[in-house]
Amino acid sequence: MDESATPPASTSTALPVLPTPAPHQPPSAGQRPQSEPPAGSQAHNGQQSELAISQYTAKLPKLRLNILELTHPGASRFLAAVNASNVLAESVRTVLRLLYQPPSSSLSSSSSSSSSSSSALKDSTTAIIPTTRSVTLFLEDMSGVAYTKGSDLDDDHKEIHFSLSYIASIKRAPDGAAKDKDITGTYEITGVLVHELVHCFQYNGHGTCPGGLIEGIADWVRLKANLGAPHWRRDSLPARWDQGYEKTAYFLEWLETRFGEGSVRRMNAALRTERYDKDRFWQGLFAAEVESLWEDYKKASGAKE
Ligand SMILES: [Zn+2]
Repeated sequence: MDESATPPASTSTALPVLPTPAPHQPPSAGQRPQSEPPAGSQAHNGQQSELAISQYTAKLPKLRLNILELTHPGASRFLAAVNASNVLAESVRTVLRLLYQPPSSSLSSSSSSSSSSSSALKDSTTAIIPTTRSVTLFLEDMSGVAYTKGSDLDDDHKEIHFSLSYIASIKRAPDGAAKDKDITGTYEITGVLVHELVHCFQYNGHGTCPGGLIEGIADWVRLKANLGAPHWRRDSLPARWDQGYEKTAYFLEWLETRFGEGSVRRMNAALRTERYDKDRFWQGLFAAEVESLWEDYKKASGAKE
């Protein structure tokens, strides 16, 4: 009954067994999400996005929502801010499009080419998607923001745990703005879900990929989905490239600019087949050491540490 595209048996061990699922902490007091999402924040619901998504042929995993405390203020906030029936499916498609869809197939939009672009999708080495069979979103009262893990019985079944207290704390739209739609809640909730869903579908070099790169790829997808958190600061450079989250995401975004669209997809694809070896990984993909790329990035960004 399951006719989803199944990777060759030899790849079954490459399913993401995420390293220690570091719970995402809320932004510090000085970094609270601001009320206004950046321009274009609704793009994930826009026509352009829908067009690309409609070309995506993979079968979605079974998606479930489990609200553990229905009377918690965060539960009503969640249900008012997003269409619970659609938000997970749309976010999965966003993740798969950004992490696996080759750039060329997003350009061939004519309906007559749908079958050929679908086979091209399967043929591409960057488009072999892990056999994640289900994703269950648990809304529960816990500290932190969210984390993702494989289920206790089977790592093909993923669990996203999202804090009701955090959802309740997301800053509301200012008085008089969008009274009929909780734009700030929608934006931040969707952004967190996209980040966590990346963990359900990304590769991790058989558990050897540095956590900073894992988290950087997750936030790169969030960034490319136009869901970057308002408190993110592009001009605040960390000391190291692998500090993770948005700090690494901006570095990855620069790599895509320098080496072309698809660079992050190729990194993810390499992490499917190989254990992470720093020199081999960066030399193989970009013919350079990551430290020298990081120096180039710092010079190019002109930002201060
Ligand atoms: Zn994460």
